[in-house]
Amino acid sequence: MKKITIAIDGHSSTGKSTLAKQLAKALNYIYVDTGAMYRAVTLYAIQQNFISETYFYTDKLIESLNQIYLSFKFNDDLGFAEIYLNDENVDDKIRSIEVSNFVSKIAAVSEIRTKLVQQQKKYGIDKGVVMDGRDIGTVVFPDAELKIFMTASAEIRAQRRFLEMQEKNMNVSFDEVLKNVVERDKIDSTRKDSPLIVAENAVVIDNSNLTREEQFNMILDLAQKTINIV
Ligand code: C5P
Repeated sequence: MKKITIAIDGHSSTGKSTLAKQLAKALNYIYVDTGAMYRAVTLYAIQQNFISETYFYTDKLIESLNQIYLSFKFNDDLGFAEIYLNDENVDDKIRSIEVSNFVSKIAAVSEIRTKLVQQQKKYGIDKGVVMDGRDIGTVVFPDAELKIFMTASAEIRAQRRFLEMQEKNMNVSFDEVLKNVVERDKIDSTRKDSPLIVAENAVVIDNSNLTREEQFNMILDLAQKTINIV
């Protein structure tokens, strides 16, 4: 059976990673969460005091890029790969609202994107990969056989994310989550380097009124049809 590349892009908190994980499992493909990579660099920048509410020492972060080593290790219990920053598992730490509030500023820096995109391209060299992010269908894998662009209303997305964070006992308000979702979309869509746009030939899915299961079945079907014709 021929393997394809599946690129999933879209707005913040549209359930891209949940869908990508399910697809990768069903197809026995590798799943790569590129947002986790930008988040891990952000965590590093926070830890080094390169970024705060009042400053962002972009040059210092760029100079330190060769000291940032990112890797993924598959966790058998969870059924997906977790991200490591310089060999420390940071998969939980990178989901905090603090990291979410700075990540789009970090992701707008070209030098950082170049480094991460290079690593992402390597993960997809043998195909059989489901990758989610903001520039997968446009920059990382412009030749991906299947491109999906996911969106939903900001309120619905914030509500889903808020419930998820509450379940994890994270101390955050709905308004804060909504503000973060809207602000990240704005920065991600208007930055100069690799802005979030709908890639050519992407299938756009607004999942405001779709259950996870409906969406998964629809896209798995699309993936299988694509695999059959390549
Ligand atoms: O996917 P997630 O919401 O975890 O991504 C966090 C942030 O990382 C995004 O809001 C965006 O700023 C950045 N990102 C990006 N390009 C990607 C993946 C994520 O710029 N391919």
